[in-house]
Amino acid sequence: MQRDLLIIGGGPAGSAAAITAARAGLKVTLFEKAPYGRDKVCGDGLTPRAIGALDELRIDHSAAHRIDGLRMIAGKKERELLWPVTSRFPSHGAVWPRQRFDNHLLDVAIASGADVRFDSEALPEMEGERVVGVRVANDVYRAPFTILAAGAQGMAAKMLGAERDPNETFGLAIRAYAPTPRHAERHLEACLSLSDEHGTAVPGYGWMFPAGDGTVNIGVGALSTMKGFKKLNLNKLLDQYAAIVKDSWSLGDYIEKPRAWRLPMSCMRRHGEGWVAIGDAAGFVNPMNGEGIDYGLESGMLAVQCYLEDPASAAVEYDKQVGERFDAFLRTGRRFSFIIGHPWLLKPGLRIAVGTQTAADITLSVMGNLIDSNTPGAAGRVMKIADTTLRIADPLLRRTRARA
Ligand SMILES: Cc1cc2nc3c(=O)[nH]c(=O)nc-3n(C[C@H](O)[C@H](O)[C@H](O)COP(=O)(O)OP(=O)(O)OC[C@H]3O[C@@H](n4cnc5c(N)ncnc54)[C@H](O)[C@@H]3O)c2cc1C
Repeated sequence: MQRDLLIIGGGPAGSAAAITAARAGLKVTLFEKAPYGRDKVCGDGLTPRAIGALDELRIDHSAAHRIDGLRMIAGKKERELLWPVTSRFPSHGAVWPRQRFDNHLLDVAIASGADVRFDSEALPEMEGERVVGVRVANDVYRAPFTILAAGAQGMAAKMLGAERDPNETFGLAIRAYAPTPRHAERHLEACLSLSDEHGTAVPGYGWMFPAGDGTVNIGVGALSTMKGFKKLNLNKLLDQYAAIVKDSWSLGDYIEKPRAWRLPMSCMRRHGEGWVAIGDAAGFVNPMNGEGIDYGLESGMLAVQCYLEDPASAAVEYDKQVGERFDAFLRTGRRFSFIIGHPWLLKPGLRIAVGTQTAADITLSVMGNLIDSNTPGAAGRVMKIADTTLRIADPLLRRTRARA
C-alpha cells in the first residue's frame, strides 16, 4: 500500500505527527503495536511548555487536572512555587493520566483523517540505506517518509542505528496510582532528597502528582550517573518514598502493581534517508526532570512541518531544526546529571537550589526548560553560566563519574 507518510508508534510524539499530517491533507498511517487503550508508564505531568505544545496542536485539554505550580522538598526545606510567568508559555500545567491522554490524542488523529492501526508492530522496510516504508507481519506499506516514534529504543531503533549512546546518561523510573483525599490539589510535589536502602543519595526525585480523579500518581526516578545504579531496587525506593508521604497525603494502597520503564536521554542517530526519529525514540527526555511528553509533541509537529515544506530535504532539515531547539539544553542537562551523580556535590547543590525562594524559582524555571539562554532575567543568566561552566567541566565530570 502506498502512503505519503508512515509513523511507527502511537504515543504523544506519533499522535502529534499524525494529527499535523492528517490536518494538512497527507495520507498518513500510524502503527501502534498495543491494542487501543494501552497505558504508558509515566508520571502524567504536563509542564506549561507541554500545555503550550498542546495549544499549538489545538488539543482541548480541559479534561486534564490543572496544575498551578510545584512544591519542592529537599530535606527539611519546603518551597511552594508557582510556574514562572513568561511570554513564551502558558502559566499552568496539568496532570493527565496517560491512558486517557494518549487515547484522546489518538482519537483526534483518527477524527482528523489519520489511518491508525492498533495491534500492529511495524519495522522499517529498507532498500540499502534508505527507509522505503514499514513491514507489519507480511504486509509492506510504502511511503517517501517514515517517522520513528516507538518510544524508548527497541528493535526498530536498532535496525536504524538510532540507539542510545552507551556513554551517556539515561534514567529509570517507577510509578503507581493510589487514592488520596488530596487528589484535587493544584501543586505537583517533588522530593529531591531521596536516598536508597544503603543511604546513598539518589540523583533523581520522588513525586506526588495529583490527578484530580481521586488518585495521585506516585513515583520515583533515578539517573544512571548514580553510584550503584545497576543494583538500585526501584520497588524498594518507591516503597520507602511512599512511607515518607503516607501520613501527609493519607495515602491508600497502590491501585495496581507499580510499573517501571526507561527514560532515554540520547540517541546515536535521529535521521537518515527517508526517516527521522521523534520523542523518546530520538532520546528527547530532559535529564533535569525526566520530562519527555513536551519534546515528543514538539518534535512530532516539527518533523511533519519539515516534510510539508520540502519532502526531499525534510530529514536533514528536521535534524538541524530540532537540534537548534533542544540539543544545547539537553546536553547541559546531561552534564548536570554527572554532577548530581556525586553525593558530595548533590547535597550542597540542593541546599543552594532550594535555599531561598528566588533560588527555588530559578531552579524550577531551569529544570522545566521554561527559559533559554536568550531569556533575560536571573534564570536566563543562570542557564548561560551553567552552559559555559559545564562545558568546560565536562571531561572532568565524566572522568570522575560516581557510577561504580
Ligand atoms: C515512570 C516514568 C515517569 C515519567 N513521567 C513523566 C512526566 O510526568 N511528564 C513527562 O513529560 N514525561 C514523563 N516521562 C517520560 C514520558 O513518559 C515519555 O517521554 C513519553 O511517553 C514519550 O512519548 P513518545 O510518544 O515518544 O513514546 P511512548 O509514549 O513510549 O510511545 C511509543 C509507542 O510506540 C509503540 N511502539 C513501540 N515499538 C513499536 C513498533 N515496532 N511498532 C508499533 N508501535 C510500537 C509503543 O507501544 C508506544 O505506544 C516519564 C517516564 C517514565 C518511565
